[in-house]
Amino acid sequence: MSNSIITSAFDIDTIRADFPLLGEQMRGKPIVFLDSAASSQKPQQVLDALDYYYKHQNANVHRGVYELSQQATDAYEQGRESARRFLNAASTEEIILVKGTTDGINLVASSFGRKYLREGDEVVISAMEHHSNIVPWQLACEQSGATLKVIPVNDKGELLMDEYEKLLTDRTKIVALVHVSNALGTINPVEEVIAKAHERGIPVLLDGAQATPHMKVDVQALDVDFYTFSGHKVFGPTGIGILYGKKKWLEDLPPYQGGGEMIATVTFEKTTYNELPHKFEAGTPDISGAVGLGVALDYIEKIGQDNIAAHENALLQSATEQLLAIDGLRIIGTADNKASVISFLIDGAHPYDVGTILDKLGIAVRTGHHCTQPLMDRFGIPGTVRASFAAYNNEDDVEQLIAGVQRAARMLL
Ligand code: PMP
Repeated sequence: MSNSIITSAFDIDTIRADFPLLGEQMRGKPIVFLDSAASSQKPQQVLDALDYYYKHQNANVHRGVYELSQQATDAYEQGRESARRFLNAASTEEIILVKGTTDGINLVASSFGRKYLREGDEVVISAMEHHSNIVPWQLACEQSGATLKVIPVNDKGELLMDEYEKLLTDRTKIVALVHVSNALGTINPVEEVIAKAHERGIPVLLDGAQATPHMKVDVQALDVDFYTFSGHKVFGPTGIGILYGKKKWLEDLPPYQGGGEMIATVTFEKTTYNELPHKFEAGTPDISGAVGLGVALDYIEKIGQDNIAAHENALLQSATEQLLAIDGLRIIGTADNKASVISFLIDGAHPYDVGTILDKLGIAVRTGHHCTQPLMDRFGIPGTVRASFAAYNNEDDVEQLIAGVQRAARMLL
C-alpha cells in the first residue's frame, strides 16, 4: 500500500517483504506489530549478514595475524564506519561500540562523573527521560555529591524552555536529554537546548534511542557532545549500540571499563591506554552485532530517513485522528513536533486490559510506564497504551489498531 506523499523510492510492500517476522502469526492472526519503539523487527539483509559472518568470517578481532581474524576485524570496523556515516561523525575515532543506549549513557555518566562532578555541581535532565537517562546520573550524583535538576514539561509533553534556561548556572556541568521521547513521541528542540548550554560552555548528551529510527541525525550539524542509540531499535541486533563523542571529550575522559583491547601497555605498576575508539572498548566486543548494525544502518539510509519520516508521519496523523474519534480516549503527549509514538488511555479502562484485548487480536502494543515513571507521575497516570510505528508499518496496521481499540472500548466500558 503506497502513500501519495511518499517519493517513489519508498515502496512499503517491498520494505515489508524484507521483514520475515511480519509474515508470521500471533494468536493465530497475522501479526500487527506496533511496538517498534521497544524493539524493531529485523530485515533479511541483517539476518543474512549475521549468518554470513558466523559461517565465513568468525574470529576474534584486532588480535590475530591470520587471514580470518583480519576479515572479522574488517567486518567489525565496517560496522563502525557505517555508524560514522549514519551520524555524520567526523571520524571513526568518535564512534564507540557499546551495548546500547543504556550502556552509552552509563559510560558517559561514569567517566564524566568521575572526572568532572564534585559536591555542589549540577546535572540537568528533563522530566521526560527514560530511566536509563535518570538512574546513571543519580548514581554519578550520589558518588560525587552533585545534584540532579529536572527541566519540567507542559501538559502537551513539551519542554518548558524558559525553565530550562533558568536551570543553567555556573554549577551545571552537563545536560543530558532525550532527543525523542519514547513515552510521548515529543521531538525535543535539541538545537536550541545545545546552543543554550554551549553559550555557558556546558556539554550536552542526547539519548537518541527513539530519534535514530525515524529521522536523520547529524552530530556535526547539531554540534552535540555525546549522542547514543541502540542497534535493536534501528533494525539491527540486540546487544549492540553506538556512543558518539566529540574527540576532545573522548580523549579527555578516563576509561569506563578496564581489560583487554583498551590498553596500550600493562605492567603491575602502570597501564597506558589504547587510542580512540578502543580506549572505551574493553574485552571482546559484540563483533557480529557490529556487523549486523552496520547493515541495518545502511538499510535505513538506502530507504532514506526523509522517506521514513514522511511515511511514519502520515500513519501517525491518520491513527491520531481516528483514535481521537473514539469516545473517552485521550492521547498523552500532544506536542506540536512529534515522532511516531501514540500513548493513549481510555477513560475507565486499565491500559493493561486494553493491551490484553489487542494481543488476542494479534496486535502488539506496549502497556505500562514505558520506563518513564517520573513522567507518568507528572501526568498523574499509572501508565498508557502505546502504539509505535516503524518504516514497515502500513495503513492496514492503523486500521487494525483502530478496530481493536474500538472493540476494547466496547468490551471494557
Ligand atoms: N532511552 C529511550 C528514549 C528509550 O526508548 C530506550 C529503550 N526503551 C532506552 C533509552 C534504553 O535503550 P536500551 O534498553 O536499548 O539500552
